[in-house]
Amino acid sequence: MLATHLVILAVAVLVDFASAGVPLPRYEALLKQQSAPSDPTLGLYDDGDKVIRLSVDNFNATVLDQNRGALVEFYNTYCGHCRRFAPTYKSVAEHLLPWSEVLIVAAIDCAAEENNGVCRNYEVMGYPTLRYLGPGFQPGPQHYGQSLHTQDINEIREMLAGMVAAENLTSSHNNSYWPNFYYLTENDSASSLFEGLSSVTQYVAVVHEPENTTLGVEVALFMTQWPAVSVRRVIDPAVAAKFKIDPTNLPISLVDRKGEITAYAPESTNGESYAKKLWDVLGKKNITPRPVTVHQPSATPASKIKGQNELIDEVHRNKHFVYQADLEQAIRTVLHNEVSKVGEISDEKLLALQRFLAVLQRYNPLGANGHQLVSKLKDYVVEFNDKLTGSQFEEELKRLEAHLSPVYSSTHFVGCVGSSPRLRGFSCSLWTLFHFMTVQAANNEESQDPLEVLQAMHGYIKNFFGCTECSEHFQAMASRRKIWSVPNKEEAVLWLWAAHNEVNQRLAGDATEDPEFPKKQFPAPDSCSECYRTPDSKSENLEIEWNKDAVLGFLKNIHNPQFVSRYGVQREELLHPTADKMRQKRQISSVFTDMDMRMGMLLYAFCIVMMVLAFKLFAFKGYRKKPYGHDLLGKV
Ligand SMILES: Cc1cc2nc3c(=O)[nH]c(=O)nc-3n(C[C@H](O)[C@H](O)[C@H](O)COP(=O)(O)OP(=O)(O)OC[C@H]3O[C@@H](n4cnc5c(N)ncnc54)[C@H](O)[C@@H]3O)c2cc1C
Repeated sequence: MLATHLVILAVAVLVDFASAGVPLPRYEALLKQQSAPSDPTLGLYDDGDKVIRLSVDNFNATVLDQNRGALVEFYNTYCGHCRRFAPTYKSVAEHLLPWSEVLIVAAIDCAAEENNGVCRNYEVMGYPTLRYLGPGFQPGPQHYGQSLHTQDINEIREMLAGMVAAENLTSSHNNSYWPNFYYLTENDSASSLFEGLSSVTQYVAVVHEPENTTLGVEVALFMTQWPAVSVRRVIDPAVAAKFKIDPTNLPISLVDRKGEITAYAPESTNGESYAKKLWDVLGKKNITPRPVTVHQPSATPASKIKGQNELIDEVHRNKHFVYQADLEQAIRTVLHNEVSKVGEISDEKLLALQRFLAVLQRYNPLGANGHQLVSKLKDYVVEFNDKLTGSQFEEELKRLEAHLSPVYSSTHFVGCVGSSPRLRGFSCSLWTLFHFMTVQAANNEESQDPLEVLQAMHGYIKNFFGCTECSEHFQAMASRRKIWSVPNKEEAVLWLWAAHNEVNQRLAGDATEDPEFPKKQFPAPDSCSECYRTPDSKSENLEIEWNKDAVLGFLKNIHNPQFVSRYGVQREELLHPTADKMRQKRQISSVFTDMDMRMGMLLYAFCIVMMVLAFKLFAFKGYRKKPYGHDLLGKV
């Protein structure tokens, strides 16, 4: 019986060891295929798009001190608003492609950790942020480029045209494509128009630009790929008349080198339509444009993660599970990305960070090293009364992580995995972390402050969350739902649950929704039927009548650290043992009865006695058979 038990013990210890340090084989394969969360290829733009992808590696070389300008979008992959804006921005890039010798359309993903420094240096306060960096641009204090506060494609085009035209008056740059934006004056004539132009230029297009518009500038920019044509703007109707222009009916004309002038009527009053008319006319004269060059740096497109379907299936099987991996990813992204990215952390921001770290220290889901990291980080931040910078924070974070390494037991999302790398992820894990913390607070006897976690969350979302639109909605919802009047810690759990459900309802069917994980009210009836008061209220059309006691019980259950799933965790040895593991160990030791233990001891003592006897016998015999009559030095 003892032998059987010893075999069981050996097997159990082996199983325990294997599951502690080695990931599940199927998941290991998935991990190999996934890209790291901060991988720049997970951004919102692919090779097929005309948006130039920037990163820390190519940012300066592509947009600083160039002889052309750049429109740069600073965005966060996980910000819903940025995702919704991405198709518009792609259209902007496509539409302005003919301007590319004078202005490029580019974007940088501030959700990628390696881009932290760039996004911090440009003082990006919300996402998406559009900035125009002109030719010769160099960043400096209070000099981060000109902001465009619009997301309308026509307004973007007009604003850019205005900014580009203003450059012409203030700076000189060695760019042969740069149009001459000066208005024609009464001194100009059909013959003087060609003075100073190269012999390649066969025509000058004269465009009437109504006051307070950028129409002429836009036409000039749309024509930069036509070396045979130079575009000039005219605003004064008397001057325009010299070039056969009737501002209402025939607002553009072409002048050739012989001084012949022909006026034309475009279809509509916008830059592109004027340009199209000219393209048409010139095409008939066998004049063609240069091919447009796209200055796209090479990068791997964001592709669907291979083997991801198995991971998604796993998550679907355990719909309401809370995963350790997601909690860790939330903390890692918060520290490395969101906080580290801020230029200056002072006043309200500093207080919010201190509060957040204090709450995280108390309800930290990480293992022992992670506990040390957060508490040392909190002590570090608390030392600052006035301000600290994001780069100071990042430096200390990296120093502590290196010192305490390894800190995290996993490196990838599990429950928050999306069907494409651009969906779900961080924002999903952030909700999960805050739900987890409200539940831990409710189970904690020490703290009596009902607002402890909600206040930390509110401060974090307001001051650090990189989804600007989410932050604004959340703050409005918090005051509408009277966050500051939550009476106790259990109500705090329910407050956050109800608030999250409100967001789920608002975003159901939205462009940011992952089709694999449609937004529904949580928990679903098949996860917690008792959470629903009446069977009727499960109907989609009726307002759900919740059984809040059951909901609270359910939330406490799924966020219980003992039930948090470790699926996909690579270094389980960094975490505290789960109840299962403890029980398993207790069971292994309790399979031995007292009688077994006594027999074991007896056997052990018997073995020792036998070994002593055997040794004595051997030593005695050895002494008697000694062959030498002298010692090793040859003495008798
Ligand atoms: C504070 C905050 C505000 C946001 N506001 C916006 C916004 O205004 N616009 C926008 O486009 N995006 C917003 N987002 C992002 C959005 O809510 C989702 O996080 C994102 O779309 C990803 O959705 P998801 O399907 O992964 O599920 P999520 O909504 O992120 O949920 C994550 C997980 O939490 C669990 N869960 C779901 N509902 C509840 C609940 N009621 N109680 C407890 N657990 C629940 C589920 O297991 C789910 O998988 C916000 C995110 C946060 C953290």
